[in-house]
Amino acid sequence: MERIVILRHYLEARRRFTGWSDRCALERWQENRVRRHLRRIAGGSPYFARRVRDFGVAAWRDWPVTHKAEMMAHFDDWNTAGIQLQEAFAFAERAERSRDFSGTFRGLTVGLSSGTSGSRGLFLASASERRRWAGVLLARVLRGTLWSHRHRVALFLRADSPLYHTIGSRRLRFAFFDLLMPLEEHWPRLRTFSPTVLAGPPSVLTELAASGRVLDLLRPPAILLGVADVLDPVDGERIRSGFGVDPGQIYQATEGFLAATCPQGRFHWNEDVIVVQKEWVDAGRTRYVPVLTDFRRSVQPIVRYRLDDVIVRGDPSPCPCGSRFEAFEGIEGRCDDLLRIPGTDGRGEVTIYPDFVRRAFLLSVPLGTDFAVTQISAEEWEISVRPAVDLDGVRQQIGELCRLQGARSPKLTEVPWEPPPLHAKRRRIRRRIAP
Ligand SMILES: [Zn+2]
Repeated sequence: MERIVILRHYLEARRRFTGWSDRCALERWQENRVRRHLRRIAGGSPYFARRVRDFGVAAWRDWPVTHKAEMMAHFDDWNTAGIQLQEAFAFAERAERSRDFSGTFRGLTVGLSSGTSGSRGLFLASASERRRWAGVLLARVLRGTLWSHRHRVALFLRADSPLYHTIGSRRLRFAFFDLLMPLEEHWPRLRTFSPTVLAGPPSVLTELAASGRVLDLLRPPAILLGVADVLDPVDGERIRSGFGVDPGQIYQATEGFLAATCPQGRFHWNEDVIVVQKEWVDAGRTRYVPVLTDFRRSVQPIVRYRLDDVIVRGDPSPCPCGSRFEAFEGIEGRCDDLLRIPGTDGRGEVTIYPDFVRRAFLLSVPLGTDFAVTQISAEEWEISVRPAVDLDGVRQQIGELCRLQGARSPKLTEVPWEPPPLHAKRRRIRRRIAP
């Protein structure tokens, strides 16, 4: 029964990816779905009942924006299953400590978000939401090869989840590889499992690619997927050369499965599940912070919910892959990681995007050099590289970049390289001072 339901979601998700004559038809359909969804969740969530009463369903696009902190502050009122924050937290922490993630709490999966921003989040999903998630994920990742091939999916993750075991069958097997264990210890099992799909944080795929042991595998995986973290172009290139396969990407957060790259390499929002509104971060409208409304998720509604990421706008022309789902170019990183430095001529602060800094490095260090940049004060950045190389070129590029942006050049201090732990989120460029 469970597999049949997932299969139905899979087929539906495949059909919806390309099945629209134009954007208008898709947007009309979304609007109906959202309104119906909001009326339904208002029946179980006091928080959203108040929203409906105060603002009306038709005006949902203008409802006040929410975010993780707001959701956590109103957790008990917010979810439609009558779950209390304290009990759910205690359950999630027990699972985390024992590394046994197979249990459910009153039929719900409970997930803890890693909390790089310092605020931990707690996420709930029901069995039927898990099945839909699985169906949509398979449709976007396997792209219609569920029947023609047998798949063995190796998942390198920080924590296992019953989500992944929702799906297993003879055609499709999953194996979980715990990121808290050293990668070296995973090779024998990986070799025996011989995955056709290999999914993990880009930093892990990069390490695997660089280890020179890819040839140990009977055959390289046909599909490589970067998940849980932004795939830096630097890593993309290393993974490609190590495995001989172009890595795809999944944009999946605890808030849900949000987007994936298509065969053309463009990200498409999963607009059969979510509506994405944009808060532009620059006057030129090249980047935005997404505000999500998920019209499938009922247990813990995600409505007018601002993510903490900055998205680089995509090419507006229809994608050759045939999907009408809106495309974007990439995930720039977290809002907190935009570097801000004082402008010249007293112009206030100027934002320097991580992408620009990355380019400064790519233009001036040898291929294969890894790097990290941390802004530690308004006018000072720490930089480190591995292996050690001359940084004059980098200094010059960053100076030039700041001049072009109308910003004062920061003081660049070289610090020793520290290998980032595999299970933590990889952030090459970040800001470590209060906003
Ligand atoms: Zn496409």
